[in-house]
Amino acid sequence: AVKVAGKGHHRFFQPELFETIRNRRELEQSLVTALELDQFLVVYQPRVDAMSGQLCSMEALVRWQHPQHGMVPPLEFIPVAESSGLISQLGEVVIEKVCLQMARWQASGLEMVPVSINVSARQFGRGDVHQVLASALARHRIDARLIEVEITESAMMDEQNRAVEQLSAIRALGVRLLVDDFGTGYSSLSQLQKFAMDGLKIDRAFTMELGRSEQGEVFVRAILSMAHALGMSVVAEGVETREQLDILRALQCNEVQGYFISRPVPAEQMLGLMQQRFLIPLPAPVLPP
Ligand code: C2E
Ligand code: MG
Ligand code: MG
Ligand code: MG
Repeated sequence: AVKVAGKGHHRFFQPELFETIRNRRELEQSLVTALELDQFLVVYQPRVDAMSGQLCSMEALVRWQHPQHGMVPPLEFIPVAESSGLISQLGEVVIEKVCLQMARWQASGLEMVPVSINVSARQFGRGDVHQVLASALARHRIDARLIEVEITESAMMDEQNRAVEQLSAIRALGVRLLVDDFGTGYSSLSQLQKFAMDGLKIDRAFTMELGRSEQGEVFVRAILSMAHALGMSVVAEGVETREQLDILRALQCNEVQGYFISRPVPAEQMLGLMQQRFLIPLPAPVLPP
């Protein structure tokens, strides 16, 4: 199998923040302040149907708008939020912001598009995500079927997370469940079935290999046939080139997401994309014989 060294996330890491804020406690403290001062915001990245190019969902991605450091990416502060226990509060803030934004779109009469929310391992481990979701959905009058939750394989497999109960409580609300960064962990076929996941997102590391190595295509093909056999829908993450997109379409991947289609954008810009609906013009796919 293709080895995914370090999950390929390192390129996002900008060490400036850690150089300035030397110790973890200081970073923790500034996260507390950031929560108080409401310095977090959510950007949205479209996900489109691989065959039609139609917008079918969007992923909510948190950003920290730091007064000195500018836009701080989540990989710089989520780990600290997790280890310090601030992740529940941050997670609630994200859920609240997403639902508020959806209520605004709804009020403007737009045809609604589902939004997926990332839930990290520790956040999931707290065991109250379904309550937080239920409360926000009720207050903002959002249909639960417009929400998806993304969780990684490792969060699912963590014994302490009582994943089966929790995932079924979230699912009982009507929320869809997606496995994030699929292929980087160790979940088995039977586990995917046991957890009744609705779909999976192939990690960017595998998308990157498409067109580069024979192995990349073999791997994606295997994931697709397994997922489809289990009735799960598949999203390819990190699609950056036309070639990757064309291969994914030929392999009959359901949905795609990545810089080639759109970068994550602020809510105001997302409004325009929701109106546009078809984000990329796509010819009829060339299907294998
Ligand atoms: P993820 O959920 O796997 O999200 C995908 C990441 O890949 C995002 O980075 C996105 O901006 C980036 N990306 C999308 N398309 C491309 C592409 O074509 N090429 C490349 N090179 N990158 C692409 P981001 O926003 O920095 O988020 C990183 C991770 O932080 C996320 O990975 C997720 O695990 C976590 N995260 C983000 N928002 C939240 C949140 O609200 N709560 C929690 N718990 N975690 C979050
Ligand atoms: Mg995600
Ligand atoms: Mg991912
Ligand atoms: Mg990831």
